[in-house]
Parts: sequence; structure tokens; C-alpha cells
Amino acid sequence: MKSTLWTSSSIILREAIFRGYIENISPLRIGTGREPPLGSRVDLAVIRIKYGESDIPYIPGSSLKGLFRCYAGRIASSLGLDICSGLSKENCIETKKVICRREGYEGEYILKNLIDRLLRDKKSSEAMEELFKNACILCKIFGAMSYKSKVIFSDAYPIDDNGKILSFKFGSRTGIAINRRTGAVAERALYEVEYVEPGCKFKFEIMCSNLPNYVLGLLGLIIHMINNGEIRVGGFTSRGYGLVKINDLRIYVKDFALKEKKGILPSLEDGIDESIDVSDLVEIRDDLLYFHDDKAWSLINRLEGVWYNAANKIKSSKK
Ligand SMILES: [Zn+2]
Repeated sequence: MKSTLWTSSSIILREAIFRGYIENISPLRIGTGREPPLGSRVDLAVIRIKYGESDIPYIPGSSLKGLFRCYAGRIASSLGLDICSGLSKENCIETKKVICRREGYEGEYILKNLIDRLLRDKKSSEAMEELFKNACILCKIFGAMSYKSKVIFSDAYPIDDNGKILSFKFGSRTGIAINRRTGAVAERALYEVEYVEPGCKFKFEIMCSNLPNYVLGLLGLIIHMINNGEIRVGGFTSRGYGLVKINDLRIYVKDFALKEKKGILPSLEDGIDESIDVSDLVEIRDDLLYFHDDKAWSLINRLEGVWYNAANKIKSSKK
């Protein structure tokens, strides 16, 4: 039997959730990307949202997704994998030239046109096969065009599991604007930069559908690099901002692929992915595989190993 492609959205093989708190240990700044509100004391305000009566800072899911996609790209290309930029008009689906030998469809196409033609002929599993074979790993994970992302990043709020607001404090610093061209102090020289003071805990959640062990390993590696300071969150990172720690890490997995073998995370892609034994790490909670704190980090270590092996296999299969 041919194994089901994990990129398919018509079947559920597995759901995995990474959950925990991102705690900033240096100032954290995620800007609004807009002009400050009238009467605002600061020129560069931190993004915030209304929660009950309070205005709370938060980390938008879209910022986290951008961060993960960016570093997934850096990691994959440092390991020799071909990846696209993922931008609109530059992603694999819209740009990749493919040669199709499928009967009745022989010829050279832009991937999008081949997929569209197969879909028009109601050949959706063939269209998915072409996407799977031709799109880069980033497009497969984070989506491109009408193909949906397999990972959803929720907004991270300073709110605990019971919905109570955790403590936070805004701070601000004065900067001096220098005219980049002349090097002189600009006309409106002083500006206020707002940030969130260290010690704020933002609850995050990353939901993954159908991701094989090696892809969970790539995401896990990024979580690891965020936790050890190799990846910073938000803006002004060159000034020491955005250093964070991950606290209370929890990983939940619901596996539909190999129900009978509890304690095994099965491979979801023949020849690339690997099954791993997690029986020494796992707890079963509400029918879910549950990994907490040290055990969640140990799971990430194992998944990272699967990622590095898979990257090598993908690289040598493309030669
Ligand atoms: Zn791509």
C-alpha cells in the first residue's frame, strides 16, 4: 500500500501541539507597524490588544510564524537543501518548472499550472503528489498560495491557563535619530522607544497537523534555539532586545497512524522520516501522548536527530 502523503488535507494522520510560555529576559519589542496614536507618549509603541478592561502586550502569531519560517529556511539551506523565499510570486508553486511524465499530461509546466490542470480534471490526489514531489520543504510546512499551512501559530498573550493576566510592565527609552545619509543628528532628534520589561510570560501555542517526526524536529530545533538565545524575538535585537526563554514546555501528540503501538511515534514518510520510541518519556493524558518540561525537551532532542538524518537523505536524493 502506498503511504498517505502528510501534505494531504483530506486525512488526519497526527496532530501535535507545542505549548508553553515565552518569557523575555531582555526588553522585548514588537512594534505596531503604524504611527503611534494621537497623544501617545511614545513614538514607537509596542503592539497591544484589549483584554477585558486592560491593554496587554502580545506577540502576534503571524510574527512567530514569520520567525519560524525564516529560521527554518536558514537551517534548511545551511544543510544544503533547496528552498524558495516563500514570498508571493516567488514560492515553489508559482515559479517551479517541472517536467511531467504522467500519461495525458506529458510536458513542461510551472508547478501551479500542472496542479490547476489536474484539479480541473478532478485528480486531486495526483495534484497533491505533484506538489509533494516538487515543492520545497518550507512550502510543504508553511503553505503557499491555496495550499494551507500545516502549522498554525496562535497569538501569545501574557495570560495563564485560567485566563488570568500575568504581570507585565511597559518601559521606554530615548533614542537619538541620526540621518543615515549625512550622519548628522536628524531634525526631530529624540524619540521614545517602547518595550516590554523583562519577566513577562507570553503563553504560546503551535498547532501542527500531519507533520512527520523530522518536520517536528525542525520546529523543535527552532524552539531550542529560541530558548538558548540563538534566535531572538521581535525588533531591536542588535541592541540586545528579544532574548527569551521557553518555560513550562508541553507537547501533546494525537497519533492516528499507529494507534496500537503506544509509545512509538511512527514515521510518516517512507525513506525520509524515522519512527522513534518515546515510551520512556511519554505520559498518556486524555488519550493524548503528553510530554512535559524535561521530557518535552528530550523529545525535541530525539526529533532533532531525525531532522538532521532526513535533511541528509533529502539532499542526497536530489543529486
Ligand atoms: Zn518552496
